[in-house]
Amino acid sequence: MAKSKVKSIAVLCSGGDSSGMNPCVRAVVRTAVYHGMEVFGVIRGYQGMLDDQIEPMTARSVSNIISRGGTILKTARCLEFMKKSKRKKAITNLQRRGIGGLVVIGGDGSFHGAHYLSMESKIKVVGIPGTIDNDINGTDFTIGYDTAINVAMDAIDKIRDTAASHDRIFFVEVMGRHAGYIALEAGVAAGAEDVLIPEVKTDPDALVKNLRDGLARGKTSSIIVVAEGDDAGGALKIAAVVEKKLGIMSKVTILGHLQRGGSPTAFDRVLASRLGVAAVHELAMGRSRIMVGVVQGKIKTSRLDHAWKVKKPISREMLKLNEILSV
Ligand code: ADP
Repeated sequence: MAKSKVKSIAVLCSGGDSSGMNPCVRAVVRTAVYHGMEVFGVIRGYQGMLDDQIEPMTARSVSNIISRGGTILKTARCLEFMKKSKRKKAITNLQRRGIGGLVVIGGDGSFHGAHYLSMESKIKVVGIPGTIDNDINGTDFTIGYDTAINVAMDAIDKIRDTAASHDRIFFVEVMGRHAGYIALEAGVAAGAEDVLIPEVKTDPDALVKNLRDGLARGKTSSIIVVAEGDDAGGALKIAAVVEKKLGIMSKVTILGHLQRGGSPTAFDRVLASRLGVAAVHELAMGRSRIMVGVVQGKIKTSRLDHAWKVKKPISREMLKLNEILSV
């Protein structure tokens, strides 16, 4: 690599945590060290940037974290960072240490913050998509998504055991306030009878018909995966509606924060490592206001603002797949 255009960088995690943030922090820190750059870790995302919680890191600071969920840098939501006057203080805290580049691991909210920070200073910013929701345009996968769908799949497998033993209908709510990726992929992986997601309008009558038809075809138990942001209002609400229409009791399980935790899968560790290395290389080349992602297996960069201005479509193929396979 040619001589780096940035001598000193910082890395932070922001917004909702996701499993795989640690291997990503490790990759960023070690790539910087490898190329002779100085590297700092910002604790608690933008809050730490405002509070001047910015610590020097070495290759050893990230020893033995590749297998750990969560993030050693901690993460936070920081509403103050939405104010320009507050960001000025954060910029001063970075500049005082000679930090010329920033890697932000987070979702589109975090990228907004990075975008403004780069507009209001000479600090170069590169985003790495780290969120369980996989709802970021410019990458096929976000860090933490694979781990989350595996956690959800494991949980649904266990629910299937009891559902099958008792001939029950279960509604399993998974995370996804605005996106149905977790529900759809975990639903297909665990063989759900139906998947309800925010991207597709939910028709309770069609769902009841589907369940009735299943019973007529000899199904004795059913599992419906519901994304928390589905327009039916979540698993509890749709379960109540269906119970009334179908005349059969059902059970509801809400997986909640389980889905954020756990050791990252091999897929997430490798993705996090690749994106961490790529982000530092982009900064070293003097690039800014971009996100690094993986598209069809290859590292790709895209404009940071495209992460929120361009909506990532849900896979119609997966929706159809689920319909076919739940016959
Ligand atoms: P995520 O990054 O997972 O989407 P949030 O939407 O909570 O999570 O955003 C994380 C943080 O990013 C916020 O707490 C705030 O500090 C910062 N942020 C979000 N939106 C903006 C914005 N419009 N301007 C500046 N900072 C923002």
